[in-house]
Amino acid sequence: MIKITSSFLLVCCLFFTLVMANVPLEKQLVASINQQLEQSQRLLIETVNINSGTQNFAGVKQVGMIFKQQYDALGFTTQWLDGSAFARSGHLVATYESNSSPSAPKIMLIGHLDTVFAKDDSFQVATLLDNKRIAGPGITDMKGGDVIMLAALQALHKQGLLSQMNIKVVLTGDEESSGRPLALSKQALIEAGKWADIALGFEDADGDINTAVTARRGSVGWTLSTTGNAAHSSQIFTEAVGYGAIFEMARILNDFREQLSDTPLLSFNPGIIAGGTRLTDTDASTLESFGKRNVVAQVATVKGGLRAASGQQLLETKAKMHKIVEQHLAQTDATLVFDEGYPPMQQTPGNLELLNIYSQVSLDLGYNKVSPVNPRNAGAADISFVAEHVDMAIDGLGLMGTGGHTKDEVADMTSFAQNIQKTAVLLYRLSVQQ
Ligand SMILES: [Zn+2]
Repeated sequence: MIKITSSFLLVCCLFFTLVMANVPLEKQLVASINQQLEQSQRLLIETVNINSGTQNFAGVKQVGMIFKQQYDALGFTTQWLDGSAFARSGHLVATYESNSSPSAPKIMLIGHLDTVFAKDDSFQVATLLDNKRIAGPGITDMKGGDVIMLAALQALHKQGLLSQMNIKVVLTGDEESSGRPLALSKQALIEAGKWADIALGFEDADGDINTAVTARRGSVGWTLSTTGNAAHSSQIFTEAVGYGAIFEMARILNDFREQLSDTPLLSFNPGIIAGGTRLTDTDASTLESFGKRNVVAQVATVKGGLRAASGQQLLETKAKMHKIVEQHLAQTDATLVFDEGYPPMQQTPGNLELLNIYSQVSLDLGYNKVSPVNPRNAGAADISFVAEHVDMAIDGLGLMGTGGHTKDEVADMTSFAQNIQKTAVLLYRLSVQQ
């Protein structure tokens, strides 16, 4: 027996009626997008050709100002939020609140202005490879996504449909390397998430147009430091000298691996290690040490990262790791410290429902079904700070391609028109689905 509630049926019927009644409108939207496609592509190339490596504050702001102008022209209220409090360029926030439909769902669109390519990188400009592919720094990650959301809103505006929507666009200036403290650098995102009912992210995700992200693992850095008694190596394992800092470190890392490596969707990685008699912890990626072969190690440090599928999994894992750390070998000590991290975007029924609506849009436009990405293949992103505050969230609606974060970053431009169309129709359907 299949149990279907009457409210579920009502929602389905309403949705179906609305969809059918509005097909001509959706066709007009698609036509309008196709008309402005060349203009959208020009804007994409213009923004790709401006270096906006995270540390190039002027470049990030310059790209932000281009988008600000575009959103101003659509009647959005725009604001450049200076990032000096968290040592980054800043963020652009653009808000459109409907006078006629104040109760329409509040939808947040997430993008970022920065790229991983520094000002002195050799990869600086867009190159047309053929009529379907353009190479360029940050073209898929994610100036393409930024232009896709704008182009969708422009088409909705042209068709007179924007006026019934409540939209907030947040384009951050520090997605690739977050400003600290996160409480300040992510404040604009979190506030917009609290305002919104639905969040859409326009990252390129895994580069596959047939998938979108409904869950991302959280990510947090950790540092493990051990200490022991410095003594001549001939006395190691004796009661007075004990095991030394390096054996204590080895014990802990091995226990981490044995006790935690089988946990589904959990991964943790010790990335850097140093130990000996003296140790200098220079920065997040540098450790230097000095020691002698015949001296029991006094200090050791490991820096690592950890990814978890849910807040609960992260809490449980931290507790297990601390418990392992506390079982010291004789005459040693150890401390484990976790950094501020990226929260997980948990798989929720709401996210899967939003993906279904998006997938249906794709099918109705004559494209493919869209399925969820394996969370293990989705890195942390800005939407993670928003997901827990909204009813529904998906990411990966941006420009597809290959080679993100490398000099081989190439956009598949067939996904450009498709994803503008899908976004415009999705926004339209979400705005009328009450
Ligand atoms: Zn990105």
